[in-house]
Amino acid sequence: MKRAAVIVAAGRGDRAGGEIPKQYRTLLGRPVLRWSVEALRRAGVSEIVVVTAAEHAKLFGAATEGLGVTAVLGGATRTESVRAGLAAIGEADLIFVHDAARPGLFPAIVETLASAIEAGAQGAAPAIAVADSLRRVDGARVVADVERDGLVRVQTPQAFRAGALRDAYAAISNDQSFTDDLAVVRAHGGVCVTVPGDARLMKLTYPEDFALLERIMGGDRIVCVGNGVDAHRFGEGDHVTLCGVNIPHSKGLVGHSDADAGWHALVDAILGALGEGDIGAHFPPSDPQWKGADSERFLRHAAHLADAAGARIVHVDVTLLCERPKIGPHRERMRQRTADVLGLPLERVSVKATTTERMGFLGREEGLAAQATATLDRPA
Ligand code: MG
Repeated sequence: MKRAAVIVAAGRGDRAGGEIPKQYRTLLGRPVLRWSVEALRRAGVSEIVVVTAAEHAKLFGAATEGLGVTAVLGGATRTESVRAGLAAIGEADLIFVHDAARPGLFPAIVETLASAIEAGAQGAAPAIAVADSLRRVDGARVVADVERDGLVRVQTPQAFRAGALRDAYAAISNDQSFTDDLAVVRAHGGVCVTVPGDARLMKLTYPEDFALLERIMGGDRIVCVGNGVDAHRFGEGDHVTLCGVNIPHSKGLVGHSDADAGWHALVDAILGALGEGDIGAHFPPSDPQWKGADSERFLRHAAHLADAAGARIVHVDVTLLCERPKIGPHRERMRQRTADVLGLPLERVSVKATTTERMGFLGREEGLAAQATATLDRPA
């Protein structure tokens, strides 16, 4: 039986957090979408169509490079999106429909589903028995107990006899709402069965799901601590910029960018934990485009590199070394700015300051220095 698949990947997935949609974020070093495509290929699925969003074209290209999949644009509803995917599939006997947000897909489940279809079902899906008690609620108030016997949680991929799936989609309209394709085929009278589901097929929904699925998939994570140091000379000016906050002062700081030593040290600390070199390698001082640059760009870049490596920034700590200006009155704003740019809760961002008791270049107020540490949790 010729096997084809539609992967639905057009969603925005806002609940999962992150700067890019969850299907393109990294899981154990690979984009989420890529895991599913590779597993389907290994399971002998010869044609794979991915339903995607126009604004994700670049992310899609990077995530599926070299895999030979077809992209089609999704519609306003899941029904429209799957319909678009089906239209792009050629001759096939067996069609799998899968959510990109379930990257733990593995070839054995594809074989089990295929066997269920070959045994006579029109549709088949992995399902897991419900372990928790079930209640119906209205807001917080419990209004009914729900018998859980006979209830299961249904996952994807779902497998269908191609004719049954195509006929069912031909019979429904785009404004009819279905939570999955088993429901579409059943609405058209198709006989559907379940096969044993698997924890690896969990759907990535919330930010913490990424680390959980990585553990389930057997990926080890390690903690890496990076450190960074920076210094800038005082010169002409009426303010300094430290950790993104402008502080009035009788001098300014001399530097190619905005000379924010606090964030420069922090960028180097994050790069250090990632083994990604230093700030000068990413933003060469010789490059005129960084002249006067806002260091927020550098910090966002470091955070993006961490995200791309599947790493999470757990905690950062910046120490500013200077006699003046006084840091104390501005400290909380610096923490808040840093937390905002890195997307961290405030309690995981520390900014503090010390003097050098008037010793050395800092004591003579020739310049100002900063050091930082960044703790990252990342795939081993
Ligand atoms: Mg610097």
